[in-house]
Amino acid sequence: MALRKPIPELKHLDHVLVSETAIKRRVRELAEQINRAYRGKDLTVIAIVNGALIFTADLLRKLSTPLRLDCIRASSYHTGMQAAGKPVIVDNLKLDIAGHHVLLVDDILDTGNTLSAVRELLVAKHAASVKTCVLLDKKARRIVPFEAEYVGFEIPNEFVVGYGLDFNERYRNIPCIGVLKSKYYAPKL
Ligand code: 5GP
Ligand code: MG
Repeated sequence: MALRKPIPELKHLDHVLVSETAIKRRVRELAEQINRAYRGKDLTVIAIVNGALIFTADLLRKLSTPLRLDCIRASSYHTGMQAAGKPVIVDNLKLDIAGHHVLLVDDILDTGNTLSAVRELLVAKHAASVKTCVLLDKKARRIVPFEAEYVGFEIPNEFVVGYGLDFNERYRNIPCIGVLKSKYYAPKL
């Protein structure tokens, strides 16, 4: 197989927090847990985009249970690293989830604002069950109490990019999770 060209923006990373290999292994383990939990059931996966796009794509291909996929968009007003308060949920779900088992997938559980708001919305639509799977969990940042049933990695309180996570819409295509050099977080004047 031809070697993949290195992404120039990898040079913007100060350090790697979770390697591509570690992500691959953990995604496989999470999928095995989910396959066991939903054996014999029909699953509806709901990804919170854009952040969960890459994680969901990889996770889905390791799930063996019959499933449907839909996406929901949640955005907090933020400038770069700081999300402000309650997120705006754009409810553009195409699937009817009443009576269905839902697995909500997001990139990162931070303050808990996003996942608690989306879960509330899905419960109000009478899902049979709503469980949550996140790649990353920053427990130290929690404002709204929230626990995900499936967690890839607990990480310290640092702003991370890569594997779907952005800074000002950049760096989503980096295959690992890392922290940018501080000069790249600085606002452009
Ligand atoms: P919440 O604070 O509502 O739990 O998380 C809101 C959203 O903020 C997450 O879905 C994610 O998109 C974004 N977010 C939180 N922490 C980080 C981080 O360290 N890096 C990036 N790129 N996004 C984050
Ligand atoms: Mg997000």
